[in-house]
Amino acid sequence: MFSERVVNVGSVIIGGNHPIVIQSMTNTDTKNFEGTLRQINDLADAGAKIVRVSVRDMEDISSFSKIVTYSKVPVVADIHFDYRLAIEAIKAGAAKIRINPGNIGSEEKIKKIVEVAKEYKVPIRIGSNSGSIGKEFRNLPRYQALAESVLKDVRLLEKEGFYDIVISMKSVEVKENFLANKYLSEMVPYPFHIGITEAGVFEDAAILSSVGIGSLLINGIGDTIRVSISGNPLKEIEIAKSLLVLLGFENGIRVVACPTCARTEINVERLAYDVKSWIEGKTVNRSITISVMGCIVNGPGEAKHSDLAIVGTKNSSAAVFLKGKLYGTFKNCELKDVLLKLIDTI
Ligand code: SF4
Repeated sequence: MFSERVVNVGSVIIGGNHPIVIQSMTNTDTKNFEGTLRQINDLADAGAKIVRVSVRDMEDISSFSKIVTYSKVPVVADIHFDYRLAIEAIKAGAAKIRINPGNIGSEEKIKKIVEVAKEYKVPIRIGSNSGSIGKEFRNLPRYQALAESVLKDVRLLEKEGFYDIVISMKSVEVKENFLANKYLSEMVPYPFHIGITEAGVFEDAAILSSVGIGSLLINGIGDTIRVSISGNPLKEIEIAKSLLVLLGFENGIRVVACPTCARTEINVERLAYDVKSWIEGKTVNRSITISVMGCIVNGPGEAKHSDLAIVGTKNSSAAVFLKGKLYGTFKNCELKDVLLKLIDTI
C-alpha cells in the first residue's frame, strides 16, 4: 500500500498501485537546448520515466519550452526563489513543478503559483530538505521538524483548494530521512518522491540510496524515486533500476549467488557474472530469481526460493534446478542456451 492519491505528471501516473517511477535530473546547462534534450532522452532510453530540469532565470524559459516539446518523457521544472519562474515554466509546458515554498517567499506568491498550476492542471512537488526547516520547528527532533515544515507547506496549498501534490523530504542522514518520511506519510494521502540528498559519489551514493530508498519502499512508502549521484545522471538510473528489480518492485531477472566456501565446486563469481551478461537486456513480465550456487551439498536447499538454480557439481559441470526440481546436468558451454530457454518457460 503506497499513497492514497495519484498524481498525473504528463502521461506518467505517480502513486496508488502504479509502478514506482524512476526519475532523474539533468546536469547540463538548461540554455543548451541540444545538450539538455540529449541528456533527457538518454536518461529516458536508460529507464527514467520523468526528468527534472533546473529553470534558473527567464532566459532558461525559452530553451525549457523547446525541451518539453521534444523530450521523450515528461519534464519537471525545478524552481527556486522566484515565483514568476514557476508560473512561466508551467505556461511553457512543465509536466510538474518542484518548489521549496520556504524560499519562494510570501504566501501571496505561493497563491499565484497555485492559481496557474490549477488552470494548467500541473502538479506541484513540495521539495524540502534538512537545510530548509522552518524556524518555528527548530526545537523538535530533526526528522519531525523536517516533516512538520513540509506539512505546513502542504496545508498552504490545500488552503487554496490544491491537492495535486507530490511530497519530498530528503536528508543525507538515512535514519532521519526514514523517520521524516514515515511520520508524514501517516498524515497525508499524497504520493511521495523519495531519495537521499547529497549522497555523494557513485559507490557511496549506491549504498546510501539503497538503504535510504529501500528501507522506505519495503515499508510501503515511496511512489517515485531518485538516486542522487555526483556525476553522470545515467548512473542514477542504473542503480535505481537494479534496486527496484533486486527488491522485487519491478519485473526483471535478479541473479543471486552463494558467497562460496571450502565446498565450492565451480567458479561461482565468474558464472554469476556470465549469467548476468547472458540475461542483459532481456525483458520479462514478472520477477525471476536465478541462483548460482557453489556445491550440491547445500546449493539446492539454499536455492529453493529461486525460479532457476545452477548448482556446481564435481567434474566441472552444473546441475540446473527448475522451481526446486532437478532439470538436468549440463556442461558449462551448454548452460547459456539451457538457461535462456528455461527463462521463457517460467
Ligand atoms: Fe558453500 Fe555450497 Fe553454500 Fe556455496 S552453496 S556457500 S559452496 S555450502
